[in-house]
Amino acid sequence: ENSYVEVKDLRRVFDVSKPWLNRVLEGGEKQYLKAVDGVSFSIAKGETFALVGESGSGKSTVARMVVGLLPPTNGEVVIDGVSMSSRAALAERQRLRRRIQMIFQDPYASLNPRWQVDRIVAEPIRAFRLIEREKEIGERVGELLSLVGLHPADGKKYPHEFSGGQRQRVAIARALASNAEFIVCDEPTSALDVSVQAQILNLMRDLQDQLGLTYLLISHNLAVVRHMASRIGVMYLGRIVEISNGRELFAQPKHPYTRMLLDAVPDVGMTGRQRIPVSGEIPNPISPPSGCTFNPRCPFANERCRAEIPPLLGGVACHAIHEGRLAIDAAA
Ligand code: ATP
Ligand code: MG
Repeated sequence: ENSYVEVKDLRRVFDVSKPWLNRVLEGGEKQYLKAVDGVSFSIAKGETFALVGESGSGKSTVARMVVGLLPPTNGEVVIDGVSMSSRAALAERQRLRRRIQMIFQDPYASLNPRWQVDRIVAEPIRAFRLIEREKEIGERVGELLSLVGLHPADGKKYPHEFSGGQRQRVAIARALASNAEFIVCDEPTSALDVSVQAQILNLMRDLQDQLGLTYLLISHNLAVVRHMASRIGVMYLGRIVEISNGRELFAQPKHPYTRMLLDAVPDVGMTGRQRIPVSGEIPNPISPPSGCTFNPRCPFANERCRAEIPPLLGGVACHAIHEGRLAIDAAA
């Protein structure tokens, strides 16, 4: 195995009971929400793997478990051969922490507004004691700011003095300050104007080429994912319903949900293929449909789809595909 990140059967259940309501209703039932329900994937070193899906499909919950911000209910994350959940490997895990960083959607909320950018970027260097001498820390910060396309003099500014795109550059510089190798990016450009989005995505790609970074990219935007990722997992209600390499996903989408997503984005292109119009809404995740959770929205659903959860076979979790009822038709 040459995978750098391995995510194995991750699950996360949230208790969403309302205690105050239960007191009123006397013996009200506990309610649980399966935010992530058995997600597995692996990422090779230097690769970008993307998770795409509608709001509430569990993308951020996966991201938080992968970086260790949220303990999984089940499953494990192995990074560079070290299990993030094993007690034995505490020292190794701490060594890994430095190499794993996260970038969030809203750069403003993730940067301390009272700190000058110099101090924000220097913080991981100091926290991990990567450089001791102040003068050298200053040099390194200047280098990092240049690396992300800012001017070293920008270090004297505060976050509010920057545009959204520049703030995301600062967040990237801070992530790189700890010599990160693996960066989990949760909707890194969703809060930015389209033209600025492209600049930040291109910067991320340049940095990946220069530094050999590995990315887990979370996005609901198919165009972003297509531009960035070599492999893609499509999530629906806490599960991966389709996983494949980027080119194949766009040229030959298999799962009806993937086709529906692609259909909704004209410029991503669905020419000459049987169209599956977007219909229905995401069900309540607290009481999801039985069987394939996509079945109420799926034009190909039958009895089996309403009863049995389809396994992820050949990169797709769909009974209609597995049974050959639904063809995998390439673009004409
Ligand atoms: P978005 O595109 O809106 O960011 P997402 O795919 O990132 O969505 P998550 O934020 O992972 O989705 O949420 C998945 C599900 O888990 C949602 O139904 C959400 O309401 C629920 N959820 C997430 N965090 C919690 C929590 N701390 N407590 C209870 N429910 C939660
Ligand atoms: Mg999210």
